[in-house]
Amino acid sequence: MPCCVDVTDPRGHPETPQRMKEGREGRLMKTMRCQQLGGPCEFPHIGTTADEVIKAQDRHLKERVAEGDVTHEPALKDMKGRWKNPIGGMGWYRRAKRDFRDLPED
Ligand SMILES: [Zn+2]
Repeated sequence: MPCCVDVTDPRGHPETPQRMKEGREGRLMKTMRCQQLGGPCEFPHIGTTADEVIKAQDRHLKERVAEGDVTHEPALKDMKGRWKNPIGGMGWYRRAKRDFRDLPED
């Protein structure tokens, strides 16, 4: 792991002030689908930061499972495991953030 990468707890506030600078001006809405976040469907989550769409996905998974949708159960389990295991979840979290950054703007 490169020494300059700051390891931030996904449960905390990963967007440090320095990093916020990047997108402060003209923050644009992007869409990330359930599938792109490890889920089974194409439900779109719209947000200006990766954290927003990750939180939306977390909510979406819980809602679907609460409705009795079994296809979202494994993704919800994975998501919960990530919060419990920040080190193991970090790779996924970084990837989601990078994917989000690389998305075209809406
Ligand atoms: Zn979904």
